Amino acid sequence: MRIVLVGPPGAGKGTQAAFLAKNLSIPHISTGDLFRANISQGTELGKRAKSYMDAGNLVPDEVTIGMARDRMAQADAEGGFLLDGFPRNVGQAEALDGMLRGEGVALDAVLDLEVPEDEVVKRIAGRRVCRNSSAHVYHVVYTPPKAEGVCDECGGELYQRDDDSEETVRKRLEVYHTQTEPIIDYYKAQGLVVTISALGKVAEVTARAMEALQVDEAAQG
Ligand code: ADP
Ligand code: AMP
Repeated sequence: MRIVLVGPPGAGKGTQAAFLAKNLSIPHISTGDLFRANISQGTELGKRAKSYMDAGNLVPDEVTIGMARDRMAQADAEGGFLLDGFPRNVGQAEALDGMLRGEGVALDAVLDLEVPEDEVVKRIAGRRVCRNSSAHVYHVVYTPPKAEGVCDECGGELYQRDDDSEETVRKRLEVYHTQTEPIIDYYKAQGLVVTISALGKVAEVTARAMEALQVDEAAQG
């Protein structure tokens, strides 16, 4: 399956992507993770992206689209993928359509995670992410790790993202409303959008997502 996850920062995209990707046997592709990996490796791309990310702005399309294209061209994404954080504006959505058309394939669904803004703010304030992957994500109150500061899954160090400060979160929410939300209408016009509430326990949201995607969980890997 080829799926796009959309929703405000802190909605639980990375959290859900980890379970959905496993259930559906497709890679989880997060452009935010790709940028953070580039930053920690000190690449030129990472250096270009960092100032935009720290300010809560989108990294320019000319950097982002090429990076996403390269990742989607890897062998593990040939049969499908779960995109998390890409596309994030209509220009990126059009570029993605062009890429898929060139391959003779198409998206199956756009899963829209709905969460009220006050909950998103609480989720982001307590978020702790593993240095190894943002699919290993915790919340100091809602889903704490067994040992403080240590990832249950891989033993990696948990940290608070630089862009999870209150001020940057406000900016990221504004960017979401003005630049990213329009892609929902763009995809509605293609009949691809399924909207679910992302409130409730993580497992409840996963079950809701699997149902909305009309996938029989038992039949999947
Ligand atoms: P996104 O990828 O959309 O920015 P994350 O998956 O990183 O969001 O989740 C944001 C924060 O909310 C994390 O701290 C995560 O542990 C927490 N979280 C995710 N889903 C839920 C949920 N259903 N209930 C409570 N907290 C959640
Ligand atoms: P995320 O991990 O998805 O919350 O993304 C963190 C930050 O990375 C965003 O606030 C943006 O600065 C940048 N970013 C991630 N994905 C994209 C994208 N598709 N387009 C532009 N910037 C992005």
